[in-house]
Amino acid sequence: MPQRTYIKEIFKSIQGEAEYVGYEQIFVRFIGCNIKCNYCDTDIDRCEEVTVYKNWDSKDYKTLRNPLDSAGLIKIIKELDAEERVHSISLTGGEPLINIDFLKEFLPEFKKVCSTKVFLETNGILHEELHSIAKYVDIVSMDLKLASYLRNRENFIPQHSEFLNECIENNIATYVKIVLDDNFSLEELNNYLDVVEPYKHKVNVYIQPMMDGDKMLISSQKLKLAFDCCREININVRIIPQIHKMLCLN
Ligand code: SF4
Repeated sequence: MPQRTYIKEIFKSIQGEAEYVGYEQIFVRFIGCNIKCNYCDTDIDRCEEVTVYKNWDSKDYKTLRNPLDSAGLIKIIKELDAEERVHSISLTGGEPLINIDFLKEFLPEFKKVCSTKVFLETNGILHEELHSIAKYVDIVSMDLKLASYLRNRENFIPQHSEFLNECIENNIATYVKIVLDDNFSLEELNNYLDVVEPYKHKVNVYIQPMMDGDKMLISSQKLKLAFDCCREININVRIIPQIHKMLCLN
């Protein structure tokens, strides 16, 4: 029996965050996540239908029954981008790696028929799962999830280290994203930056200010302190807010 999975939505839009900001992608949003961030604003509950948006805005769409198998997902992607002109397919969520059995089947099939790059947006914790599909992944956007922002305050530093090491060992183009408001300590941030420090010549860091609508939830002073923490250990760092919300895109 083919593996099947529940997907919330599939849409073509602009990458709104970090290193590849502004590139056109096809986003495949999986449901479910292995952690709970205080600031999570993504609807990732299981749903009986997947919504497929044909354009950048949300006016032109159709719905299909969940769950999807690999052939069904590839067909939708090809319909959205028959000429393979988008920059990449973004596997996002939720946490895509919790669907590892599906991805192990889907990714080899996808790579057989499409030359488009595979871009994985992940919370950077499930390193064993990444290991099992690493050869099919071209780009990783890996979050560092500070314990201050997790409902159970778990510390995932060891898992983040393993995850980043797995990315580098497999020559995956990787960057790290850290979402911040005022509620973190510099000591905590420094502990998490130790994960990146050994790889700083290959991996850039992007600080993403947390927002409430158009209001930034981090003061400019705290933002500067976070930026300086990265600079002090020679990490290549940039501050980039989410742009897709400003552009009113999906
Ligand atoms: S990792 Fe992402 S999807 Fe999961 S709870 Fe955090 S913000 Fe939400």
